[in-house]
Amino acid sequence: MTGLQSDAPKSVLLVDDNPLDSQLAAARLERFADIRLSCVSSQAECLDFLGKHKVDAILLDAHLPDGEGVELIDRVLANCGPAAVIILTGSDDEQFGLTAVNRGCQDFLVKGAIHNQIIYRAILYAIERKRGEAQSRLYDEVINTIHEGICITDARANIVSVNPAFCRITGYQPSEVIGQNPRLLSSGRQDEGFYQALWEALRQQGAWRGEIWNRAKSGEIYPQWLSISAVGGPDPDSLRYVGVFLDITALKAHEHSLLHLAHHDSLTGLPNRLLLQDRVERAIEFARRDQSRIALLFLDLDHFKIVNDSLGHAVGDELLKRVSARLSGVLRRSDTVARLGGDEFMILASDVGSAAEIAEIAGKIAEALAAPVELAGHTLNIGGSIGVAVFPEDGGDFPTLMQHADTAMYRAKHNGRNTFCLFDPHMNAEAVDRLRMEAELRQAIANGEFELHYQPQIDLGTRRLIGVEALIRWNCRKRGLVPPSVFIPIAEESNLISQIGAWVIEEACRQLARWREAGLPGMRVAVNVSARQFANSAFAETLARLLERHRLDHSQMEVELTESTVMANPKTTIAQLHRLRAAGIQVSVDDFGTGYSSLSYLKRLPISTIKIDRSFVHDVHAENDNAAIVAAILGLAKALDMSIIAEGVETEAEENHLRGAGAIAVQGFRYARPMPPAALVSWMRRDLGRTAF
Ligand code: C2E
Ligand code: MG
Ligand code: MG
Repeated sequence: MTGLQSDAPKSVLLVDDNPLDSQLAAARLERFADIRLSCVSSQAECLDFLGKHKVDAILLDAHLPDGEGVELIDRVLANCGPAAVIILTGSDDEQFGLTAVNRGCQDFLVKGAIHNQIIYRAILYAIERKRGEAQSRLYDEVINTIHEGICITDARANIVSVNPAFCRITGYQPSEVIGQNPRLLSSGRQDEGFYQALWEALRQQGAWRGEIWNRAKSGEIYPQWLSISAVGGPDPDSLRYVGVFLDITALKAHEHSLLHLAHHDSLTGLPNRLLLQDRVERAIEFARRDQSRIALLFLDLDHFKIVNDSLGHAVGDELLKRVSARLSGVLRRSDTVARLGGDEFMILASDVGSAAEIAEIAGKIAEALAAPVELAGHTLNIGGSIGVAVFPEDGGDFPTLMQHADTAMYRAKHNGRNTFCLFDPHMNAEAVDRLRMEAELRQAIANGEFELHYQPQIDLGTRRLIGVEALIRWNCRKRGLVPPSVFIPIAEESNLISQIGAWVIEEACRQLARWREAGLPGMRVAVNVSARQFANSAFAETLARLLERHRLDHSQMEVELTESTVMANPKTTIAQLHRLRAAGIQVSVDDFGTGYSSLSYLKRLPISTIKIDRSFVHDVHAENDNAAIVAAILGLAKALDMSIIAEGVETEAEENHLRGAGAIAVQGFRYARPMPPAALVSWMRRDLGRTAF
């Protein structure tokens, strides 16, 4: 509050109908340089003046010709704005002066008892009082309208005042809390120590702030942000504690949802890695005390990337949601399913006994994934590879268990997908080697360390060459000749396969052109194409353009796709296959019989050749299932008007059996191993056409 500012000019209006009194007052105030006096003599003039000028104080005679008494005062007060009002009364009605002050005037003076100094001081004080009143009205308004609840107690912590927000938040009326200890609001959630610390802070620092749970009159417990300050004092009579608080229920809910977001995967709603880690760490602690075991199962979906790449992210996302729901559905409530990102999930199973029990869990997961997912008009076959690490055998902390489950998962993938694999310490060395090989593969692409070998495909009837299959070889400087079965899976996982595959096709075309120049114009090459390469919608067109660039006939190229590539993604595969066939490029299904092709489906595909996997050709003449399977495949191919190549023929007995069963074309070590182009030409001159290989 400002002090008296006697030197600032003050505009004072004297309202008096008695000219003598007016002159007297004017004469008294004349000597004070900071007073600017104006005089009027009626209520009407007064109100008119107030309407036009800014006035700091009014000296008001309570008896005017056109108004008097309480009515006059009320009217002037209603129109005076920020001006202070001092009533001038006769000596006989001092009582009226008090009435005037009660109604809102700042002071009264008894006419005739006014000295120079008194009137001057009365004006200054009245102005100051008026200002103070305005200020405190403002404070009242703030306190009454503010959203924060305010609770003021005396030094003994008895509530002396509360504001409307306090009543709204707590549900108590002022009369129910005044005189009470704020303990009345406590929820019981904070212990004695909490309140001791609070009072200690108030005594030491004069303030405390923090979160506190209180109970409303309705019984509901809610969180509030409370800030208490000690004001006044130090004597107990003037000391007050002012508590200002905000109901932070909504804020808490927001905080809670943020916390949920931080701990859950937004797509599937499953716990994320962070929450998983927390749960695993707790489970480890528990298992250690309990001498029990926990299992971490790392699940990676097979073929998910192909779905995502070819059908788009929206379908991929939906697939992940469906998978999440299935996983949650088959596991125990006490198990945690978390999504680590991409198509990687982690399952925490506590209190697992034996390996058999773990196998059972893995089996349930595999079963959950086995049924095809119908999505956006596609039938998607997913399946997943699972790696398992067990506490305490495979690691004593979260990172180690994670890493080992990951390693085991890679092993499962390597073993042919859709399987599960327990961690074994030897795997670690393998994982390191795999990473190293990936780095070396990158280098190999840059260094041009790949070459293509060619394996003849022969017509059994005519003993003539019908084509060759191009098989890649990695001539690694450090490792020597690395077979594709070792590095192709790594290239596929790391997506290096796109670059490698592009090189294979390019090189096969170059070789065909070289053979043409060397006088072998009609050669036909089959190249192996990976799922990822094939998922590229521009594949057929790129291949056709390449053939044209090398001036090759489209029929000189055949694309070999494994059964799983064809089945992984039927819809986009069909479109791509049609584009290839429309361009006159042949397509064969490689390793047939090892996947899960449905026959009804196969007949809808524009496929020219089926290659019977060598596992069925092996010892086909002996008494085993292979003969039946080969017969069935041959029957099928005939019905669908597809040609057949039997792979991996090694012996005369196998050849004879195949010929008897009606097979037409063969490929295998019995005739020739895959070999470099130069060797192939000498082989053709030397061995081709011989009746016995
Ligand atoms: P695949 O396409 O089924 O190729 C046939 C594999 O069987 C070749 O192994 C071949 O050497 C082998 N083989 C042929 N005849 C016989 C036989 O009589 N007995 C035995 N035991 N094996 C025989 P290779 O060259 O090691 O290739 C393995 C696999 O790697 C291929 O299987 C194919 O899936 C993949 N691959 C090879 N080259 C490429 C390529 O350029 N791109 C892609 N994506 N994959 C390739
Ligand atoms: Mg092949
Ligand atoms: Mg094959």
